[in-house]
Amino acid sequence: NRQFVLARRPEGKPVDDDFDLVEADVPEAGPREVLVRTRYLSVDPYMRGRMRDEESYAEPWAVGDVLQGGVVGEVVESNHPDFEAGDTVTGNLRWADYAVADGDELVGIETGGVSDSAALGVLGMPGRTAYFGVTDVLDPDPGDTVVVSAAAGAVGSVVGQIAALNGCRVVGIAGSDEKVAHLKDDLGFDAGINYAEADVAEALGDAAPDGVDGYFDNVGGPITDAVFEHLNVRASVAVCGQIALYNEEGVPTGPRKLHTLVEKRARVEGLLVGDYAPRFAEATERLVGWVQSGDIAFRETVVDGLENAPDAFVGLFEGENVGKQVVRVESE
Ligand code: NDP
Repeated sequence: NRQFVLARRPEGKPVDDDFDLVEADVPEAGPREVLVRTRYLSVDPYMRGRMRDEESYAEPWAVGDVLQGGVVGEVVESNHPDFEAGDTVTGNLRWADYAVADGDELVGIETGGVSDSAALGVLGMPGRTAYFGVTDVLDPDPGDTVVVSAAAGAVGSVVGQIAALNGCRVVGIAGSDEKVAHLKDDLGFDAGINYAEADVAEALGDAAPDGVDGYFDNVGGPITDAVFEHLNVRASVAVCGQIALYNEEGVPTGPRKLHTLVEKRARVEGLLVGDYAPRFAEATERLVGWVQSGDIAFRETVVDGLENAPDAFVGLFEGENVGKQVVRVESE
């Protein structure tokens, strides 16, 4: 049973030596526990925060801890009445071939036959984040212009499509021409901006000619500064993440254009998907329906092999993923 431990706290962008792949016994399931074989592991930007020695909404890992993450896996052995060997389950498990969990912390996957790994992406935590962020926090009106950053990623790709279903003009900001083409051609975005090439503030003049009514912020930093310049009066900003800042050690580089919030009387609200746990079933039902009807398209970037999980994780900070980044773990 291979498992990854945090070898040391990363400085800046994580590197290979920050992670150690170690051998351990396959754990035994205790009372009400379930032994799960990992099939897919999710790597997520928030995990960078857990590698810091700082309190946050997700508890920091200690050096030497086995890393945890969202997993879709197969039940090998169950001492819990809800599960039996062969079931496919999802939960917050480990960067490991096998892990045990309290059966109360696991759920069967609900993907409507879409794909098992989708339970980590469009039909899982990122999809739910997009759903509640648009529906509850931005709450746009038809005809509004909604801008989303990290638009080709797991959360952003779903944000844009839900906003479009609400009748909004949708503008996505992403890091390559290929991603911008994907947004427009495959996901139905009205416009896209490649922030690696374009001056975002300038490009928004064309992409959002009527200004920005809703901004779903996944990245922070200079991109958010640029969007703030285009906010309309009474605009709403949902702050979901600040990935541009996660590897910074010093003072954040933005957002800095806060005076525009005064001028525009804009509302900025942070969002944490966990707060919506009592309504997860509602989100899953809507998302499964949209994917089945073709109203929401999705992509995944799949890296093979548990040993490549750190690379897949670091790739999130280099924009290597289109859609949800998952690691396929083939262990026997
Ligand atoms: P993504 O699938 O969007 O992957 C991250 C993407 O961020 C990359 O593909 C890259 O795309 C972009 N990116 C990386 N570095 C930068 C940078 N310096 N500037 C601009 N863009 C960058 O990840 P998720 O969808 O899982 O997460 C997106 C955001 O949502 C993160 O900030 C995450 O922390 C947050 N989040 C928050 C939740 C909550 O409850 N609040 C829940 C889930 C996620 P590109 O090529 O375009 O640069």
